[in-house]
Amino acid sequence: MSADEQRAIDPSAAGEALRWKKFPLLNDGFVCLVDWMGSDSAIAQAARVSYGAGTRAISTDEALLRYLMRHRHTTPFEMAEVKLLVRVPMDTWRQWIRHRTASVNEYSTRYSVAIDAAYTIENDGWRIQTASNRQGSDGFLPPERGSAFSEEERAFHEAARALYQKRIDAGIAREQARKDLPLSTYTEAYWKCDLHNLFHFLSLRMESHAQWEIVQYATTIGEKIIRVLFPVSYEAFLDYNLNSLHLTALDQGVIRRLAGRTPATEEDFLQVQDPRWQGLERCRERDECRQKLRTLGILK
Ligand SMILES: Cc1cc2nc3c(=O)[nH]c(=O)nc-3n(C[C@H](O)[C@H](O)[C@H](O)COP(=O)(O)OP(=O)(O)OC[C@H]3O[C@@H](n4cnc5c(N)ncnc54)[C@H](O)[C@@H]3O)c2cc1C
Repeated sequence: MSADEQRAIDPSAAGEALRWKKFPLLNDGFVCLVDWMGSDSAIAQAARVSYGAGTRAISTDEALLRYLMRHRHTTPFEMAEVKLLVRVPMDTWRQWIRHRTASVNEYSTRYSVAIDAAYTIENDGWRIQTASNRQGSDGFLPPERGSAFSEEERAFHEAARALYQKRIDAGIAREQARKDLPLSTYTEAYWKCDLHNLFHFLSLRMESHAQWEIVQYATTIGEKIIRVLFPVSYEAFLDYNLNSLHLTALDQGVIRRLAGRTPATEEDFLQVQDPRWQGLERCRERDECRQKLRTLGILK
């Protein structure tokens, strides 16, 4: 769907249609929207209150939201909130729960019998340890080798569950019976987060260095839920955060030395400018881009 088509949809009606819709993930996980507060226009409205006259120069909500995101004026995004219900394997949840700014209520395996479902890997889904980075993966085992691991996984899950059930049936307390359940066991939680901190979660967990499993959850939350509820903020997040590039002082030095040899002209710049800036007499974002290119020595 194009950005214009997305904008034509009423986020509030689209959000209502999403409520409780389960987006399946992995083999037995899901995320679903339970509730939300706010909208792009409510975020812009909050910004206009807090920044007062300074925002009058920015005429539309879209321009204002993009400005806020670009300049990391974050508090207006805290005015919006999203509450999700998620079902996640415990090893993925262990990464997820490190994000301390959300409010969480998790299924209790002290109180209730553990969810009888575990994350399983298909024959062709066993990832190989990467040689370039100690915590990533690169490529897959051939399915004919993977099938033995999938078979062992199935037997192991069955044995772990049978032991757990045996303890429960013998009257052992649930809080103790659970101790040998595998990390692949699913847990469920309500997870509520304001939009600023949710974007922080997405920027770390939609990113390629994060583990594949949590990337699936984060990408689904971003693309299927946040894009629908907050289309302008989400697009600004993609442009200025997730898909942006952080340049260190050292990176900048190298670029400056490389590019400084043949800097481009203003004419070159205008020819290759972003299509959204074309035809605009004044454009703050274009000015900011021009300034960055000058700082890097790419533009005269
Ligand atoms: C690819 C990747 C690899 C990782 N590897 C490891 C690992 O090997 N070992 C490990 O332990 N963790 C690891 N982590 C987890 C990581 O260190 C963070 O704990 C996690 O990403 C949460 O980030 P956060 O603290 O910024 O987020 P949140 O907890 O959501 O916090 C959001 C922001 O709020 C502020 N904040 C929240 N709480 C505090 C506080 N108490 N004091 C000050 N500021 C606060 C900070 O500005 C923070 O950035 C990894 C994460 C990623 C994405």
